[in-house]
This record gives sequence, structure tokens and C-alpha cells, in this order.
Amino acid sequence: MIDDVFCKIVKGELGAEVVYQDNDFWVIKDINPQAPVHLLIIPIKHYNSLEDFLEEESALLGKLLLTAHKVAHQAGLAEKGYRLILNEGEYGGKLVPHLHIHLLGGKRLGPKIVKD
Ligand code: AMP
Repeated sequence: MIDDVFCKIVKGELGAEVVYQDNDFWVIKDINPQAPVHLLIIPIKHYNSLEDFLEEESALLGKLLLTAHKVAHQAGLAEKGYRLILNEGEYGGKLVPHLHIHLLGGKRLGPKIVKD
């Protein structure tokens, strides 16, 4: 049984600040924001990682990015810009085993590649 924190949120078992929902995705505010705007775009269907996507599900991956872009517009970030991050695995620093994209913005962000 899949029981990660984002599954609990989309099942309504755990609260979150939801800023956008459709049939495929929820977008919530990150509980530990690293920028003035820090949102998480979360597929409702559980995927642990990119590796779980089948070739025929690539449209959903495209929609994931388009949803991030749509929400960035809604949050007023499109003009000045924003950053999307997808962490994978131990070395990528992934904490929640449910695929998601971070959307960060609202200020000029720091270095793109963190050395340590
Ligand atoms: P990562 O798996 O490292 O890409 O990041 C997981 C993110 O989920 C972190 O930025 C956490 O702050 C965030 N997070 C964990 N639990 C919650 C929660 N209950 N509500 C909102 N964000 C959360």
C-alpha cells in the first residue's frame, strides 16, 4: 500500500494549503518554503519517480510542466521568472517518494548548481 505524505494529502487524510487542483494534479504550498513562493506540483496518481512512467504516459509528464507554468502565471511569477526543480533519489536529495516538481520564485534565486 502506498502511504507517502502526498498520497495522504490528495486522499484528504492530511491537510495542505492547496492552490490549484484538476483531475491529474494538485498544487500545494511547501510546508518549509525556500523562497517567497514555493509550491509543489503533485500528480494525484502515485509515481515514485520518473522511472515509473510508461512511454504512453508521456502526455501526463508534459501536462505536469504545463501545470507548473500555469500556476507560475497565477502566482504572478511569469514576468520576472521562476525555477522548477525535480529531485530524484538519494543523491538528488529527494525526501518524499512521490514524484513532484518544486516551483520557486518571488525573488532572485541563488546559484543554480549547489556544490555541497
Ligand atoms: P523533495 O522530496 O526533497 O523533493 O522535497 C519534498 C518537499 O516536500 C520538501 O520541500 C518538504 O518541505 C515538502 N513537504 C513535506 N511534507 C509536506 C507537507 N505535509 N505539506 C507540504 N509540503 C511538505
